[in-house]
Amino acid sequence: MSQIDGLPPLREVINTHGLVAKKSLGQNFLLDLNLTAKIARQAGDLTGCDVLEVGPGPGGLTRGLLVEGARKVLAVEKDSRAMAPLAEISDAYPGRLEVVNADALELDPLEHLTPPIRIVANLPYNVGTELLVRWLTPPSWPPAWSSLTLMFQKEVAERIVAQPGSKKYGRLAVLAQWRTTPRIVMELPPEAFTPPPKIHSSVVHLDALPAPRFEADARKLQAVVAKAFGQRRKMLRASLKGMHPEIEDVLTSVGIKPTSRAEEIDVEAFCALSRALG
Ligand code: SAM
Repeated sequence: MSQIDGLPPLREVINTHGLVAKKSLGQNFLLDLNLTAKIARQAGDLTGCDVLEVGPGPGGLTRGLLVEGARKVLAVEKDSRAMAPLAEISDAYPGRLEVVNADALELDPLEHLTPPIRIVANLPYNVGTELLVRWLTPPSWPPAWSSLTLMFQKEVAERIVAQPGSKKYGRLAVLAQWRTTPRIVMELPPEAFTPPPKIHSSVVHLDALPAPRFEADARKLQAVVAKAFGQRRKMLRASLKGMHPEIEDVLTSVGIKPTSRAEEIDVEAFCALSRALG
């Protein structure tokens, strides 16, 4: 493997620091620096940008982000065993890499960064989904970040970009497509990771729109979508019954048939419904 940054190969880093992958932390590492640089490029032009990287592990993607010219990378990693290898990267890029040993679910580091901010992560699936929803639903819009470039299980990535009428269309699609333009930009086979997971993975890139596509209150929209897709096989007049005493009338007033099901409703109609439910 050719080295792109003069630091030791990642396999050597892992052996030196005894960074045996832990299942409990969802650790599947990317060890090919050409691949991690390619993923970093999917985030767009990094020069002049601060990058929040969540879950850097031994730092393969971190090195890719720095090679691709990120002004500064703030890396948040839960596993304290990764601190030593990450410190070596920090030494090789003076002043450009800050590492925080913390759980990304318990910290909001965006205020420590200077816009434009891009977020990049290869995280365990459940942590990634939870952070995605949080990043998509800040109190105001536009958010502090300008783009998200995130690795997911292929199946989850497909849910984020799914269109109405598809079985994969649901809460993630509505929230993502309401205020960003999500695209699947790369697919990776299990062999790209060490150890290889059972499933294929995809990188999704989401650019924040300057304003939401349609007017809606984020909390209200989240509540409606959660209810509607929580019982996705039911007709909306049944699944949304608890949200309004005259739910059939409300649905009709925004042009939605009360007998339709959640997966038939596009983002615009969900926003109209959330406004009507006030
Ligand atoms: N980015 C590295 C790569 O691509 O090789 C590692 C990816 S590995 C799939 C996920 C990383 O996220 C691991 O290093 C793991 O320790 C870290 N992680 C898991 N849960 C986390 C959390 N809640 N907060 C921060 N890091 C977390």
